[in-house]
Amino acid sequence: MKPTRMCVACRQRFFKQDLIRLSKSNQTVEIDYNKKNDSRAIYVCKNDDCINKLKKTKAILRIFRVDVDENFYENLKNSI
Ligand SMILES: [Zn+2]
Repeated sequence: MKPTRMCVACRQRFFKQDLIRLSKSNQTVEIDYNKKNDSRAIYVCKNDDCINKLKKTKAILRIFRVDVDENFYENLKNSI
């Protein structure tokens, strides 16, 4: 079985490889391209809908207690 994770935006489970991993280190949230960061992570689908939802629901702030700026979401969208 391939590992699955839940998207924090749509709350459905997908294969880990099909999701974008976001992790927090040193009070900064980053897009974890290499999936090597062991810190706490959340996952979001690789589509605009879920990224928009992630922004709207402020899930990052709620979960990580750190806010991100507009650029972060732009980078996310550019990474898909
Ligand atoms: Zn999703």
